[in-house]
Amino acid sequence: MELLPKSETIALREKYIAPSCDLFFRKDPLKIVRGKGQYMYDELGNAYLDCINNVAHVGHCHPAVVKAGCEQMALISTNNRFLHDNIVLCAQRLIATMPSDLSVCFFVNSGSEANDLAMRLAQIHTGNTDIITLHGAYHGHLTSTVDISPYKLNMPGGPPKKEFVNIAPLPDSYRGKYRDTTYNNDEVGHLYAEEVKEICKKIQGKGKGVCAFIAESFISCGGQIIPPKGYFREVYQHVRAAGGICIADEVQVGFGRVGNHWWAFQMHGDDIVPDIVTLGKPMGNGHPVAAVITTKAVAESFKKTGVGYFNTYGGNPVSCAIANAVLDVIEAENLKERALEVGDYLKNACEKLKQQHEIIGDVRGAGLFVGIELVTDRIQRVPAKEIASYVVNRMKEEHVLLSSDGPEQNVIKFKPPMVFTKENVDTVVLLLNGILQEVKNIPHLCCAEKSTDNLISGKGPLNIKKTVKEQVKCI
Ligand code: PMP
Repeated sequence: MELLPKSETIALREKYIAPSCDLFFRKDPLKIVRGKGQYMYDELGNAYLDCINNVAHVGHCHPAVVKAGCEQMALISTNNRFLHDNIVLCAQRLIATMPSDLSVCFFVNSGSEANDLAMRLAQIHTGNTDIITLHGAYHGHLTSTVDISPYKLNMPGGPPKKEFVNIAPLPDSYRGKYRDTTYNNDEVGHLYAEEVKEICKKIQGKGKGVCAFIAESFISCGGQIIPPKGYFREVYQHVRAAGGICIADEVQVGFGRVGNHWWAFQMHGDDIVPDIVTLGKPMGNGHPVAAVITTKAVAESFKKTGVGYFNTYGGNPVSCAIANAVLDVIEAENLKERALEVGDYLKNACEKLKQQHEIIGDVRGAGLFVGIELVTDRIQRVPAKEIASYVVNRMKEEHVLLSSDGPEQNVIKFKPPMVFTKENVDTVVLLLNGILQEVKNIPHLCCAEKSTDNLISGKGPLNIKKTVKEQVKCI
């Protein structure tokens, strides 16, 4: 539903909304008024195929989730100082998906809050303050979580790195410090883990212990990186030996997105059990609800402080009704299994594209979390940032929403609602093929990395069958 003409929405946004608030496609932003499944609709009724909204996990506005939220809202929404079945059932269900040691739940409202609470728990439990985080990582927008997010710290104008923050290299075997061209997967995992060991030693050398190691189990903002084999096993050992605990940030990659597991940390072996797991985004399918799951020991340390934990909205009956409905839909519609099947189909299709386009250096992913790394030179693996930006903008013109990420912004990301289909994959791959072909015919794009500004203007000479765009538009 549109209350204002788009031009007025833009004018009011410019006038009243803080200019630092991100806006997709700022030069020609989208006004999205409705969503259904894997599609979002603008004010004119045009459909956009959504390949990036991992928050709308079970599909935009899934009727069962909407119904659960509406019904509970009509009954009561209050805080969790009162007993309510929704909160205990939600905690029970989440814990049932985790290894048995992870058995205590806190409810919060966002991924940032979850990571902030995780840091607080870690500090109390260990008595230490030094955090180890990964280069390129993002863990939230709060002051505390920006501090441990090199993704923001390393930006021009970003806050200075605090002394308690220790940044380990991104365990990227494609373009990182240790590469698959020189080392096998086991060696790469070991070498990157040794870097964390060195940091632990450095902290201990100052007479301190480690507080926590925090990482996504499958790194999203860092550029869809799957940490190499054995990495977490060794890192967790080093961190624990230095007095620290391990936090797995599952805010983006959790809830079955990786396909064969509920949680991405489980991809790395049954013996990889974090001390704290943080959940968010997909948990409410767009409604703000998030959680921290931890061990009895960590929860007990917090209790012993005598400081009670209260969060006005965390775990309210409406949020928990919605989270329970999301869990129901994941199970009823077999979305984990579907993520695996459609994700494999997507990866295979992208691998085929790689054979036709030199610009694609690497295709990687698990389930419906896939990255295509663009490079201008496959040997040197030079990031093709401007081309990635061009591709994302052109895909938008073709009504497919993608994004680019990674420290060099050269990785095209796929993290669609889990109801994504093989037909959707075919559409996306056909369009990508055409746009990558188009790039080859734009001399200043395929040869040199220049300013983005003059690249994004206007449509390129793409001549893809009109039917594809129509196919997206008509659904
Ligand atoms: N952790 C990760 C890995 C994230 O990607 C994000 C959000 N992009 C957050 C934490 C913060 O979540 P929120 O925006 O819900 O606070």
